[in-house]
Amino acid sequence: MSTETLPEFSPDCRVLVVDDDPFTRNMIARGLGKLGISSVFSAESGEQARSLLEARGSVDLIFCDLGMPGEDGVTLMRNLAADHAGSGIVLISAISEKLLRVVGDLVAAHGLWLIGTLAKPLGGTELRQVLERWSAGPDQAHAARQPQLTVDRFRQAIQHGEIEVHVQPQCAPGDGRLLGVEALSRWSTPEIGLVFPDTFIPFATTHGLINELTDYVTRRVLDALAHWDEHGLHITAAINIAATTLHRVDLPDFIHGECAQRNLDVKRLILELTEAGIVDNLSKSLDVVSRLYLAGIELSLDDFGTGHATLSQLRQLPFSEIKLDRSFVGAMMTDPEARTIVESSCELAHRLGLRCVAEGVEDTEALAEVRRLTCSGVQGYLIARPMPIQDFLDWAREGAWKPLFSAGDLPVC
Ligand code: C2E
Ligand code: CA
Ligand code: CA
Repeated sequence: MSTETLPEFSPDCRVLVVDDDPFTRNMIARGLGKLGISSVFSAESGEQARSLLEARGSVDLIFCDLGMPGEDGVTLMRNLAADHAGSGIVLISAISEKLLRVVGDLVAAHGLWLIGTLAKPLGGTELRQVLERWSAGPDQAHAARQPQLTVDRFRQAIQHGEIEVHVQPQCAPGDGRLLGVEALSRWSTPEIGLVFPDTFIPFATTHGLINELTDYVTRRVLDALAHWDEHGLHITAAINIAATTLHRVDLPDFIHGECAQRNLDVKRLILELTEAGIVDNLSKSLDVVSRLYLAGIELSLDDFGTGHATLSQLRQLPFSEIKLDRSFVGAMMTDPEARTIVESSCELAHRLGLRCVAEGVEDTEALAEVRRLTCSGVQGYLIARPMPIQDFLDWAREGAWKPLFSAGDLPVC
């Protein structure tokens, strides 16, 4: 497990989890338990949640799924409004980020204290962030969630270099050889410090700024690849592509042009696309996805297992790899369902001739398991947390991760 010290959360915090899916209810309860919160009630629907609140009194935090049979999350929020202004609300959904944002606005408009909106599945990091925001109280939490995001301000952030590109390494599970990095954006704001992408990516996407961000990240990453080449480090880099970017017809040409300028093969850049992003508008995305493939650009299916793609849809899509979602990888040593998902996804990838990358590997037990399953790549806090792109070369030279893979530490597959 991560050696990071966990913040102290009040064990008195009372939490209600409203979700019809027992897997999510258990996952949240277990995750909160690990963070020291044991007073967790659960309900399967809005009606049940309201009777529970009536019987047991108010709670401090409510995790609420939006889509439930019977009284759904949207109706529950409306019904709670008058009496539960003191509870922090966290909306969760597996369906769409857009819906989460719309309901998020609605919750705030009802005068409820919205702590955050989270896409399923939730991991330990997200739960910890929620508790941190809750501990900070309504005013600070509100400020932390809402840097003064305006279109001009964000555009200025890109132009003034306030968007930092961090990278996280990916290694071969067998011998620990460096294969590549994934680029992850952060926004370093003078006002409130580092802002994480779950806050600004949805904003950039809905306000038409995501292309500017993607272009910026792509150029920074390709500059780094060219620089690392000069120092003898020849690896790949992956960037995250938002769903709306898949409607951008000039994307293949843009990538080709930028790679050519730096004398880099396009295969050095991998585009990570999410299943939900493609499936939401399959015909439109397929056009760009096919053209990317024809241009020789490698595609990776990110957050595998969390979307709703059918097997036949997946077969239509020209991917080179799948990335197993970190929520399954993180839980696989303790949760048999998560383990089954990881095992069967690996097997599916092998059968379809795809690489299979495990992300979210946080301890040596998970690494050993990933090796046993013969995954092709491994990424996670165990090897390194995301670091500023300019620090990567030194990190690679120091080789602090190498002992993890030394013979004898792990079973050889
Ligand atoms: P993602 O693509 O699934 O990226 C992996 C996330 O997992 C990152 O969160 C990373 O910091 C975190 N992570 C890595 N290893 C571990 C681990 O061992 N344990 C745990 N618990 N977490 C780990 P981050 O950086 O906050 O990024 C969140 C999401 O924001 C990314 O999820 C990606 O979808 C999106 N994102 C980040 N940068 C960009 C960008 O430049 N453009 C677009 N379109 N999306 C971006
Ligand atoms: Ca990714
Ligand atoms: Ca992912």
